This record gives sequence, C-alpha cells and structure tokens, in this order.
Amino acid sequence: MIFSKKSEKVLPSITLEVTSGAKQMKKDGADTIILGAGEPDFNTPENIRNIAIKAINDGLTKYTPASGIDELKLAVAKKFKRDNDLIYSNSQIIISTGAKQCLWNVFETILNPGDEVIIPKPYWVSYPELIRLVDGVPVFAFGDEENDFKYTRPILEDVISSKTKAILINTPNNPTGAVYGKDELAMIADFARTHDLMIISDEIYEKFNYENENEKYTSIANISSDSYNRTIIIQGVSKTYSMTGWRIGYAVGNEKIISLMASIQSHTTSNPNSIAQYAAVEALNGDQTSVKIMVNEFKNRRDYIVERINDTNILSCKKPKGAFYIMINISKMLGKVIDGHTINNSIDFSNILLEKVKVAVIPGDGFGVSNYVRISYATSMDNIKEGVKRIINFVKDYE
Ligand code: PMP
Ligand code: GLU
Repeated sequence: MIFSKKSEKVLPSITLEVTSGAKQMKKDGADTIILGAGEPDFNTPENIRNIAIKAINDGLTKYTPASGIDELKLAVAKKFKRDNDLIYSNSQIIISTGAKQCLWNVFETILNPGDEVIIPKPYWVSYPELIRLVDGVPVFAFGDEENDFKYTRPILEDVISSKTKAILINTPNNPTGAVYGKDELAMIADFARTHDLMIISDEIYEKFNYENENEKYTSIANISSDSYNRTIIIQGVSKTYSMTGWRIGYAVGNEKIISLMASIQSHTTSNPNSIAQYAAVEALNGDQTSVKIMVNEFKNRRDYIVERINDTNILSCKKPKGAFYIMINISKMLGKVIDGHTINNSIDFSNILLEKVKVAVIPGDGFGVSNYVRISYATSMDNIKEGVKRIINFVKDYE
C-alpha cells in the first residue's frame, strides 16, 4: 500500500502525544506529574454545563447550519464589540470544531501550493503541520529570547519573499507566553500592508494576560482599518472557559474568506457539535466571574514556578506575560551524561525526566527549539509544587 506523501510527512501533535502517554502512565499506577498539554484544570463553569444539559433535553441535538447557529454568531459579535471594540456581522463569523479547525479552514482557503506563511519560532506545534498539510510552506521567524522571542521588523524583512501570502501572530503566545504591545502590533500591521499580506491572528489566550489585567486586549485588527480588513482572528472557548473537550472555536474577518471557509467545513465536518454550540453561547454571554478567578490563580502559579526555576544555577526562564506556559532554558544540561546517556537535546532531557522523576514536559524540539522544554501551569498548585520540586532535585546534581 502506498500512502499519500502528505500523510507520511505529518508528525503527530507532540503536545497531545506526550500528555496522553503520561496520562496512560498515571492510569497504570505511576505517580506521574503532567506539566504537558495546555488544558486548564478547572471544571467548565456550572452555568455552561447546565445549558448543555438543557440543550440535550430540549432536543437541540440535530444538524445545525454548517457554519454554526445564529445565536452563537450573535454572541461572538457581542463579545468582539464588548471586549475588543471590533464590529463583525453575521456573515463575517464562522463557528468550527475548535480553533484548530478554524486554522485549518483558513489555510485551506488562502494557500495555493508553495505559498508561504510567516510563523513565529518557537512555534505552536500545529502551525507548521497545518500549513504543510495544505501544501503551503511555513517560514520561521526566529525571535531572540531577550525580546521574548517576538517578531521585530528586521527579523520579518529577512524572511519575506515574493511567495509570502500571510503572516501569523499569536499573542499571548504558545509556547513562549509573550504578549505583543500596541507598537509592535502596529509594526506588524505596517509590514503586512507594505507587503500586501493577510494576517492570521490567533487570539485564543486573550484573557490570559497577567501584566495589564485591567487594560483591554489589543488585537492587530484594532490598529487600523487596513489591518482590520486583512486580518482573520482565530478564537475559541477551549482555554477561556476551560472547555477543551467541547471543541468550539470561531473565526472572524473578511466575508468572502469566511464564506469559503464555511463551504470547506460543510464538506468536511458539517456543523460543530450542536450541544456545545449552545453551551458556548452561555460561555460568551453569561457571567464572566469564573474567567477572572482562573486567571488570578494562573498568575500565582506562574510567579511560583518562575521564582523556583531561576533559583537554580542550571535552569532559567523568563517571566512570561501571558498564556499559561513557561519555556525553561535547559542549555546547561545539554552534554551531561546520565546513566550512560548523553543529553543532546530537549527530547533526551524530557525522556530522562519522565523516566527518572516521572514529570512530563513538552520538549522544545516540538516548537523548533532544542534547548528548551515547555511546562504548562494549567494544572493544580499541588501538582506544580511537586513537579517543580522533582525537576529541581533532578538537575541539582549537575549544577
Ligand atoms: N491556537 C493555539 C495557540 C493553541 O495553543 C491551541 C491549543 N489548543 C489552539 C489554537 C487550538 O485550540 P482548540 O482547537 O482547542 O480551540
Ligand atoms: N494547545 C495546547 C498545547 O499546546 C493543547 C494541545 C494541542 O492542541 O496542541 O498544549
């Protein structure tokens, strides 16, 4: 049997793979601490769960319009007006099975074979794979750790080519936690205008911003009418409302692009889950207290980890401004020999950490950087304390 070239090239999502492997270890009785996938440990708030139960009992369990129910599009429009001062009409909104499907739909819609998309490096694992799956070419813009790995104009000018079709931004960022300021967004908007690029703005971590909690989130679509017109915003309820398993994401932007995305979706998955759509209406329209509680808790966790890791002489990390990840620099561990095995990269480090002290982290190689591992602090403080203690005890001997 000859398989498609594409399927043979695609790698499984390392974030999901490491996490499910570690969950299985735990199930089999190992005392494993999972600092892997970015999945909030909070339960989905009760008001949202109740609406889902009601939707089932009311028989709202049939096909819906492929691009989502009007009630949810209305709630999305309201959210953008309330939170972002951005106006979108019904025809500029699509509801999908997670933000991941929104990204897939948009790449399918805008890319022809060989078209390039600039993505930040370190990158979230799925960006390059999604782009390659539709025969596009991911082009990596590698930021400096000193500058929180963010895009700068020289870095972007260095990677632009006649084939560049779009630039992707993700703020707050997975895996670095970096948050772009208004000036930086204005620079990217100007870069996109100068080179006539589309902007794909993944804003899924919007609410996880720990430095300017009372300030409104600035989307690149806020910068100018030009940036508004060339931006597709990717969003979802997975993180904000602890609804990772419900699979609801949404995208907004240019009407023509959204309608093409909807046509693709109508042939691939049809509508996203009907019950989850009604629950998402409640998530966006209902009481937002749970979001504040979760974000405050995450901030405490971040501060705890950053302090402990930087207390070691062998590991280091920057204090991320947003999302719920920390990139730990493991450069000083590279080359060390443990039980006859040399640690050559982040995969070796992660494997030995799991084997020796049963802590699961995501190797930076999954994000394009070998001398880092990513930990997620979307897990309980007890888990974090134990996990960090084990990591520190493990590296102590090598200081
Ligand atoms: N974008 C980023 C940056 C992410 O980290 C994730 C992780 N889940 C997604 C998109 C996809 O989210 P979902 O499909 O759960 O909505
Ligand atoms: N986005 C999360 C992460 O990076 C969840 C897993 C995934 O979808 O990749 O851990």
